[in-house]
Amino acid sequence: MKKIKTKYIIAGILILAVLSAAFFLYRGTHSEPEKISYNKFLQLTKEGKIQKVYLDNTDKLQGEYTDGEAFITDNPRMEGLKESLLLQNIVVEEKDQSLQKEQIFTSAFALALIGVVVYFSQKNASGQKMGVIGKSSFNAVIPEKTNISFDDVAGNEEAKESLQELVDFIKNPEKYARLGARLPRGVIFYGSPGTGKTLMAKAVAGESNVPFISVSGSDFVQVYVGLGASRIRDLFKKARSFGKCVIFIDEIDALGKKRSGSLDSGGNDERDQTLNALLSEMSGFEDNEGIVVIAATNRLDVLDEALLRPGRFDRHIEIQLPDIRSRLKILKLHAKNKPLDNGVDLEEVAQNTVYFSGAKLENLLNEAAILAARRCSDKIHAEDIVKAFYTVVAGSEKKDRSGISQEDRRVTAFHEAGHALVTRLIAPENRVTRITIIPSTKGAGGFSMNIPPDRMYHRKRDMENSIKIALAGRAAEELAFGTENITTGAANDLEKATETLLNMFRRFGMNKRSGLLNYDVLYNNGFQQVQDEILEECRKRMDELLKEVKNLLKENKKLLVALAESLLLKETLDEKDLDFILQACEQAG
Ligand code: ADP
Ligand code: ZN
Repeated sequence: MKKIKTKYIIAGILILAVLSAAFFLYRGTHSEPEKISYNKFLQLTKEGKIQKVYLDNTDKLQGEYTDGEAFITDNPRMEGLKESLLLQNIVVEEKDQSLQKEQIFTSAFALALIGVVVYFSQKNASGQKMGVIGKSSFNAVIPEKTNISFDDVAGNEEAKESLQELVDFIKNPEKYARLGARLPRGVIFYGSPGTGKTLMAKAVAGESNVPFISVSGSDFVQVYVGLGASRIRDLFKKARSFGKCVIFIDEIDALGKKRSGSLDSGGNDERDQTLNALLSEMSGFEDNEGIVVIAATNRLDVLDEALLRPGRFDRHIEIQLPDIRSRLKILKLHAKNKPLDNGVDLEEVAQNTVYFSGAKLENLLNEAAILAARRCSDKIHAEDIVKAFYTVVAGSEKKDRSGISQEDRRVTAFHEAGHALVTRLIAPENRVTRITIIPSTKGAGGFSMNIPPDRMYHRKRDMENSIKIALAGRAAEELAFGTENITTGAANDLEKATETLLNMFRRFGMNKRSGLLNYDVLYNNGFQQVQDEILEECRKRMDELLKEVKNLLKENKKLLVALAESLLLKETLDEKDLDFILQACEQAG
């Protein structure tokens, strides 16, 4: 019902906009003013032949000769023009009440845009696509030819790299089939909303030059049992008829959520049927068909394991929130068709939009353009972007992270710097490949290291080192902000550290006091009380290790601060950045 209403409202707005534009255009062209060049205009002012000028901000300047006839010329939009005209005894009328053609266009355009925005937000709110509801044959399968390439997706270089292979597979499936290589049939893109998952899927289709079919998981969740499953079969039948293609299923969680207990009623049955239909369709592909299914979700951990098994959606690619460099790229990309005033510094905008997704950045520029249009300016000014910034931030959901405070960023920066620095200092064989303070679906910030090839045996010192590396986040926080200001950010680290330490003591006989006994065996044989002993030993050792890490960081505080500060500045550091910073610091003494 709501949908139908908005449809009418939009139609109404559009009709009104067109009508009013036409009306004013008609009025505007009624008495055709004489077109003169700006030079001619200046000459006529000097000769005293101009009586009146209507001054405004559009690119045309209108006025009247002394004989009352109208003229029009180019508007230099020069500061001081008004004064110089007044000094020549010309009547100057600021013409903002009387509407201009351009103004009509821009406001009609803005109205239409607002209409479209309202329309889409309503559409999203109801969570379903138009034209799908209640129909049994699935009409939404409309192949789309996309011209989008990886260049249109800023950032996410690692994801693009790994998708390159998929593109090659779609283009030459025989090449892989010949060698018996099984390539992914299903890929899952996971990451926060608006990070460009849909865009990336389109780019895969575009790069492979095959049709793109887009559906949403919620299209398949129906009230009638069996309808979802039959739609899935329909979808794949149609997809096959196009030959090679990319099928994109947005919001896969709508039909692939973890099955929760047995208490749920009929609705779940329906979803199971739908899910099973999807899985059996996917395993029915021939290896050289060149059909790939890409599904998107905000969170990987809510998905049913059945979906993630080998041969199904077994390739998982995180699409990340952009860091400062990627934000600049995205801004530049979306500013291409928008005239920016010279005062706009996109680098600064990128700096001030921490935790903005690509969609939000695009939205920001769009809002700014609408504001500029409303001002009847022909360029987007820095203030438009500032104003738009507040609109976008205020309008965004609480869930997303653009509200993260400066303090949280500092904490994350020191925490991650601690992990990275301690790794470099005590276990340089583990290369730190990336540190970031941009949150991922796994939590705030993160650092990744390449651990050298697995040994058959783990040495005690390697295990202790890995505990120290885990504790380094907390240690850095303590050092930078004081013991009273430590945060919950270390939860996962402590979990890992505890697990490793427990194993060392209970299973590997790596502690003097607990000895060479296997504590599981002891426990099973009735020696329950020895668990307390282990607990005490673990606490003691963990405290010692934390102290060691803290001392290490204290001795290298300069490096820690330098790393944290450059993280705050650049948000993401790769191995080269890290080398550079550490070297520069060492040389400086
Ligand atoms: P998701 O599917 O992850 O919710 P979308 O692909 O729908 O996100 O992104 C919405 C819009 O945001 C895109 O159409 C694009 O205009 C913009 N966008 C998001 N991420 C990027 C990016 N990395 N590069 C360029 N534009 C982006
Ligand atoms: Zn940590």
